Order: sequence, then C-alpha cells, then structure tokens
Amino acid sequence: MKADIVYVQEKFREFNRRMFDGKLSESPMAVTNAKTYLGVCAFRKHRKWNGKLEYSDFKIRISKRFDLPQEEIDDTIIHEMIHYWIGLYSPADMPGHSPLFRKMMADINQRFDRNIRVSHRLSAEQQEQAFDNRPKKHIVASVVLKDGRTGIKVIPCLERHIRRYRRGMMASGKVSSIEFYQTTDPFFNRFPSSSAFKVYFLDPAVIAEHLRTGDGSVREQNRP
Ligand SMILES: [Zn+2]
Repeated sequence: MKADIVYVQEKFREFNRRMFDGKLSESPMAVTNAKTYLGVCAFRKHRKWNGKLEYSDFKIRISKRFDLPQEEIDDTIIHEMIHYWIGLYSPADMPGHSPLFRKMMADINQRFDRNIRVSHRLSAEQQEQAFDNRPKKHIVASVVLKDGRTGIKVIPCLERHIRRYRRGMMASGKVSSIEFYQTTDPFFNRFPSSSAFKVYFLDPAVIAEHLRTGDGSVREQNRP
C-alpha cells in the first residue's frame, strides 16, 4: 500500500492513544513525495535563556511514493513518533537515536509485537520505485571506449548539447565510437541529463536492451 494523509492521521491517533498515553496532542503528520526517505521528523531547535535546547514545530513527514507492506509504513510512523515524544518530553535526548530512543523502541516492539528499527533503509527495489517512471524524451549517447568499456550518457534534447558532448568526448582520445539515440524509455530517467563529458558504464546487453528495442531509433552516428 501507499500512505496517504487520511491513513497517516488515523494511525497517528491510534498509536498516540495505544503507545504514547495520548501525550502527543497535536498531529504533526504530513505526506510527501520524497524519494530519499520513508519518514522523517522535522523540528525547530532553539536555545532557552538557561542555555538548554528546546524543540518545537514538529512535522512528521511520511513519503507516499513507495508501495510498502502496511507494517512497514506503521513502523515508520511509530519510529518518527518516538522522535516527536522525545523532542517534547526529553529534549536532552535529542537528536538522533539516543539510548532513550532505543529503549522506547525496544519497549514498543516488545509490548506491541512490532519491528521498528533504528534505520528504515530503502531496499534496492524501493529505491527503484522512487525513480520517476513516466516516459520522457531523452537523447542517449551510447559510447564505446577504446579500452572496450561501454556506457551511456543522457543528454538534453538540444542540438548544441549533442554536438558539444560528441566534440568533447572525441577530443579525449579515449572514445572509439558514439551513437546517439532518441528514446522515451523510463530506464534513462535515473541518469543525470547534461552535456558533461561523462560516461555511465553499463553492460552492452543492458544498453542494447534499452536502445535497440521499442522506440529507440538511431538518430546520428559517429564512427571515426
Ligand atoms: Zn530516526
């Protein structure tokens, strides 16, 4: 499932009641489209008159981008709620995953049979989901180096960028051939688009799979 605002608000109320004695009064929940995290607890930090740190303006952001098992979303919400609780009631134990954080986490895991972890890292598959999968028009250079390595570079769809890339790469003396393709294969969305003189090394079979099928058509060839 993917998180949405109704779901995360509802879970916040439920977990607040069951696990935090209802002490997290205001709901700080929000959903985002973040690619880099499942959940995050943001806050403002100020120093009080006595020099101690104080935290406020808590915002728990849950990414709705990933398709995850419900338990994983719930564990992420609870993880961020522990940060929130500590920020409110034990600011000296902020930030990060202090001993108090780990104690509360272990306690909730045991009492409620949960599997909250210190780090809810994205798996390779989840990271894959984070990439935009909408078809976009790309110009892709398929590059073969003189040492036999093969790779690609995504270039903005502008004639001068394509010319600049080809000129720069050929001038390096290391390139054996460059072919340019126009494609909308979302595989290429993950590579930065620029005319920087770079090559992302890929297996020739992977390149062939994405450039010689579908709409990948040869646009221009350059064999010195
Ligand atoms: Zn954390």
